[in-house]
Amino acid sequence: QTSPAATVFPSGPSNLFYQSRLQRPTLDRAEGIYIWDREGNRWIDGSSGAMVANIGHSNPRVLAAMRAQMDRATFGYRLHFANEPAERLANLTASLMPEGLDRVFFVSGGSEAVESCLKLARQWAVATGQDSRWKVIARHPSYHGSTLGALAVTGYAPLSEPFAPMFTAMPKIPAPTCYLDRDNYTDAERGLRYAEMLREEILAQGPDSVLAFIMEPVGGASTGALVAPDSYYARIREICDEFGILLIYDEVMTGAGRTGRFLAAEHWGIRPDIVALSKGFAAGYAPLGAMVAARRLVEPVLDAGGFMHGYTYAGNPLACAAGLAVIREILDQDLTGNAGRMGALLKAEMTALMDRYPFVGDVRGKGLLLAFEMVADRETMTPLPREWNAHARLVEHAYARGLVVYSRRTRGGIEGDHILVCPPLIVTEPQIGEIMERLVASLDALAA
Ligand code: PMP
Repeated sequence: QTSPAATVFPSGPSNLFYQSRLQRPTLDRAEGIYIWDREGNRWIDGSSGAMVANIGHSNPRVLAAMRAQMDRATFGYRLHFANEPAERLANLTASLMPEGLDRVFFVSGGSEAVESCLKLARQWAVATGQDSRWKVIARHPSYHGSTLGALAVTGYAPLSEPFAPMFTAMPKIPAPTCYLDRDNYTDAERGLRYAEMLREEILAQGPDSVLAFIMEPVGGASTGALVAPDSYYARIREICDEFGILLIYDEVMTGAGRTGRFLAAEHWGIRPDIVALSKGFAAGYAPLGAMVAARRLVEPVLDAGGFMHGYTYAGNPLACAAGLAVIREILDQDLTGNAGRMGALLKAEMTALMDRYPFVGDVRGKGLLLAFEMVADRETMTPLPREWNAHARLVEHAYARGLVVYSRRTRGGIEGDHILVCPPLIVTEPQIGEIMERLVASLDALAA
């Protein structure tokens, strides 16, 4: 019997045990927050995959909606036929966005959503006589996707370096890693200082050449749930407005309720010009994402001849039926509210880990987008030696104890080993207890 792993090759760094050293377990089935392999071992999906399975696995209502759609039609090419699930999902999505953001463009994943944001922004500039604008300022570290356009705005060297000659890297400003700063400013002041870096970068680049600024409202894979001080968000919006620059929120990870609001932008009352959604938007039931843009941007583009961009599978009826059922489930079960409540509980328990383990240097995040960072010294936030591979070792210990979490160590800005703990938004209080028990046992094993 040939294992499928023999021909399907993994992506990512090959020094991580769960990607190459051991054979990854083969998925058998998944339900709620649990996943089983073919040998019958069970794990808690403590990171919802890569912060995707927001409503949990095998939700019966979503599966029923998908089966019903499958019995009618699974595909109709979007340029030939409109389809009802796509229309309904677009309307429902628009109804959940800040005022004025009501034009929805479907894609099949997060990178495609980001690419779409960049290209819509550029076409808007051209359509409105602002041809000189093309630079999209981004942050470092950040993660916006794997395709070359998304990599151009991604501040994560291991992923972008090999491809550097193949795209034009966009300007980057530091992500607001205030927790690493040892100065006498208040958090509110730090937020403003980091925001000011955008203004300085715009001036350095030449305001007429800058098209947009893209940011993850709460950092995801690259920064481990990095939240900026409240003052940061409003000031960034003001600076964009001052120069007529579009503000793109990459809510691929934060969107669809993950942070305790449908969009993370709502925490600060921010109205971005364009939003990218994926991951929790279809919660793993279908490859689906969306760009939601302000009507004032889309109309000139359509009037000038159309948005010259699109993906064959995007907006297909099956994926949209899944997405529609997922969003309805989020609303009907108030999973956004649950993310806020369970997130507060989990964060408090994770914060208590700092009393027990001196190497837990920081706990951060919002809602159920939570992370902790492991360091050699909490006072100075000196990272653990890279060769220890502490983040991967912790993941390995957790795996062995029936808990899957998501780990990263970035280069630049943040050097620490961080672990994202982001269970599905359906998680209950007793299940948080189960997660914490396994996490503590894993940290004990790492400390031993
Ligand atoms: N943006 C953000 C913020 C992400 O977290 C991700 C995925 N980790 C992406 C974009 C890319 O999404 P995908 O992997 O679906 O292409």
